[in-house]
Amino acid sequence: MKLLVIGSGGREHALVWKLAQSPHVTELWCAPGNAGIAGEHLRNGKKVLCLDVAADELGTLVACAQVNKIDLTVVGPDNPLALGIVDLFQLHKLRIWGPNQKAAQFESSKVFSQRFMAKYGIPTARAGTFSNAKPAKAFAASLGGRCVVKADGLALGKGVLICADQVEAKRAVDEIMVSKAFGAAGARVVIQEYLEGTEVSLHALCDGKTTKMFPTSQDHKRALDGDLGLNTGGMGTYSPTPFLTDAQLADTAKQVLEPFMRGCEAEGIDYRGILYPGVMLTQDGPKILEFNARFGDPETQVYLTRLENDLVELLDASVNGKLGKLELKWRPQASVCVVMASGGYPGNYVKGKPILGLDQAAMLPNVKVFHAGTARAGDQVVTNGGRVLGVTALGPDLKAAQAAAYAAVEKISFEGAHFRRDIAAKAM
Ligand code: AMP
Repeated sequence: MKLLVIGSGGREHALVWKLAQSPHVTELWCAPGNAGIAGEHLRNGKKVLCLDVAADELGTLVACAQVNKIDLTVVGPDNPLALGIVDLFQLHKLRIWGPNQKAAQFESSKVFSQRFMAKYGIPTARAGTFSNAKPAKAFAASLGGRCVVKADGLALGKGVLICADQVEAKRAVDEIMVSKAFGAAGARVVIQEYLEGTEVSLHALCDGKTTKMFPTSQDHKRALDGDLGLNTGGMGTYSPTPFLTDAQLADTAKQVLEPFMRGCEAEGIDYRGILYPGVMLTQDGPKILEFNARFGDPETQVYLTRLENDLVELLDASVNGKLGKLELKWRPQASVCVVMASGGYPGNYVKGKPILGLDQAAMLPNVKVFHAGTARAGDQVVTNGGRVLGVTALGPDLKAAQAAAYAAVEKISFEGAHFRRDIAAKAM
């Protein structure tokens, strides 16, 4: 099979790395990819080829798939899904993995998701959806101001404002709806009560009828140790988490996925791809904060290092509606991913810093260094984004995996590099 992966981050490197291990794959392209992706090889010895096409250049991606006779395209990021890449490929009779535009609304519209959860009885925060600032502020006031104000549309992960009191809540509504800090994405808002608890990531692979739940994982969203500092795209993950037993995970899956699939059927939504709910484990049980319509980043890095199945077979079955026949198999080992970021991230940062020690880190056992924001400059690998690397390690338990990941991090350096030193610490 000839495959095309769309995207350029750590998630896409993990997807490419795992897909490249499949004996079904004869050629693999990635658009646009990164330096790590360009360094991967297939089992037949062929190199993965990176194409200089951005993930949102849909027309050019269709042409690439046609010219290279791609059998299956795999979409990594949310933006092309929201733009309708799946519908466009299908229009051109090209096979593609990911939810279509209607199904991707679970991520591209928080108002859509919140209303869907209310309608189909999916456990979530007490919430309201608004297209005017005045009733939005009144609802926030009814929650005592302790709430979370969310722009409806995609806002590069920045459209969620956590408020401690009414002054902050009013300011948040004004910022999103009046000053339009996130543009059209803020034409409507969701306001949720603020939930206390432990946050975990869930992933389920869906084929339109069947869902297959992954084990649990946990991300670390804040930039600094101890969950301090600014929110980021994610500074590290580990899997499994000790916060949900297998029985609790199965129960949560039932509470969330059964009404989800029932609702999709009722609304005529054909959900094929990954459904990634962000979940708060509260004293009153699990509550869904949001849905994402793609693999998490850096959750993918820990999941795919643990996954035993051939990923091509899973994605193929997800496209074909044949997941029911497959069983997901996971290595019993734990996996830990530590993100190394550019100095200043998630604020401003400088690109082009040479990265040293990648070969030494790669020589360590049970370690895989996934690239995110990297590029090649001559014979050097240099930084090319905020999150630069996802240093990932497997171990017999979380403690061993954590130690292995940090031993690899110690081998790598670039000017200004920063990373958290407490990834997975909460679990121990
Ligand atoms: P979202 O993009 O909706 O998942 O929100 C981003 C982050 O904001 C989440 O990962 C949580 O850490 C936090 N968050 C979102 N909604 C809530 C809520 N209702 N209560 C507490 N924290 C929240």
